[in-house]
Amino acid sequence: MKIARIETFLVPPRWLFCRVETDDGLVGWGEPVVEGRAEVVRGAVEVLSELLVGQDPLRIEDHWQVLTRGGFYRGGPVLSSAVAGLDQALWDIAGQAYGAPVHALLGGPVRDTVRVYAWVGGDEPSRLREQITAQVEAGFTAVKMNAAGATSPVATAAETAAVVARVAAAREVLGPDRDVAVDFHGRFTAASARRVLGELAPLHPLFVEEPVVPEQSHLLPGLVTTSPVPLATGERLYSRAEFLPVLTAGVAVAQPDLSHAGGISEVRRIASLAETFGALLAPHCPLGPIALAASLQIAFATPNFLIQEQSRGIHYNKDTDLLSYVVDPEPFRFVDGHARRGDRPGLGITVDEAAVRAADRTGHAWRNPVWRHPDGSFAEW
Ligand SMILES: [Mg+2]
Repeated sequence: MKIARIETFLVPPRWLFCRVETDDGLVGWGEPVVEGRAEVVRGAVEVLSELLVGQDPLRIEDHWQVLTRGGFYRGGPVLSSAVAGLDQALWDIAGQAYGAPVHALLGGPVRDTVRVYAWVGGDEPSRLREQITAQVEAGFTAVKMNAAGATSPVATAAETAAVVARVAAAREVLGPDRDVAVDFHGRFTAASARRVLGELAPLHPLFVEEPVVPEQSHLLPGLVTTSPVPLATGERLYSRAEFLPVLTAGVAVAQPDLSHAGGISEVRRIASLAETFGALLAPHCPLGPIALAASLQIAFATPNFLIQEQSRGIHYNKDTDLLSYVVDPEPFRFVDGHARRGDRPGLGITVDEAAVRAADRTGHAWRNPVWRHPDGSFAEW
C-alpha cells in the first residue's frame, strides 16, 4: 500500500482538514491547523506532502521522524501543526488497515468514558449564569471560561474583583461537585497572575490555564510555588522538548493540542513525559471534529488523562460547528458530560466529504482580533 494523494480543505468556521488517500482506496483524515494561520499551514502541508506521496502509510513513526527532522529548520506552530494533521490521517489509515480503533493500536483502552468540558462565556461573559445553567442541564460536569477580556498590565482592583466575581458566580451555579476551569489566555502579567491566583484559590478552580504567555514560561516555577490553584499550559507548545521545562517547573496539567503538537504520535509521548512528573493530560481542542476524534483516541488510551476540551457551542463558531462535517454525530454525543468509547476503526468518525468539498469552495479567512489598551498600546488577546 502506498500514499497516492494528499489534499487540503479550508473550511469554516476556521479550520483546515487534510485527506490522505492510498492506492488501494483507504482514506485518512487529519486537521492540520493553527487558528488564524490556516492558509499558512496549508502551504506547509503541501510542501511536506512531497515526503509522503509514494510511501507506505503504515510506517507512521518513520514518517513522523522525517516530517519533523527531515528539514534542517524545524518545529514551531506552522510546521508542527502540518505534521500533526498528516500524522492524524496516517493513524486513521492504520486503524482502517488493521481494523482497529486508534486507541487499540496505542495499547488498548484504559477507560470507558472520557470527561469533556463545555465552554461558557467567551471573552465578555455577560450571560455567564444562564450559560452555565444550560450546560449543567445538558449534563456537563465541568465548564471552562476566560477570566477576563483585555486587562491592564497590572490588573486594577476593579479588574481583579471582576475576575473573582465571575468565577464566584460560576461556582455558585455549579455547586461543589462540578468543576470550573479558568483560562487566563496569557492576558495577565506574572505579577497580576500571582495576585489573581491567590484570590481565586477559595473558589477551587479545577485549574488556571496559561497564567502567563508561553514566552514567559521561565516564570512558571515561581507561580507554581506561590499558587494554591493547579496551573495548566501547553496549547502553544509544540513538542515534548517544549513541554519539558514547564513540566519541570511543576505545572499540574499539560494541554498539548492534537493539531499543533505533532499529532497523535507526539501527544502520546508528551502524555508519557507528563506522567513522569505526576502531571495530568487535558488536550486543548477548540477545533473541529477530526482534531477532537484524535484527542478522544488519546484520552481512551492514556492513563494520566484528566479532561478533554471540545468546541460544541464555543463562541468562535458561527453557523458551522463540530457536527457540520461528520456523517454520524454519535461519537460526539455526550452523555452526562462524557464521550463514550466506540470500536470503529481509525479515528472512529465518518467525515462528510461532500460537505467538506463544498465548504472549501467558500473557505474562510478567520483571524483573532488585535486588541488595544485604552492608551492605544497593544493588548494580549
Ligand atoms: Mg486556552
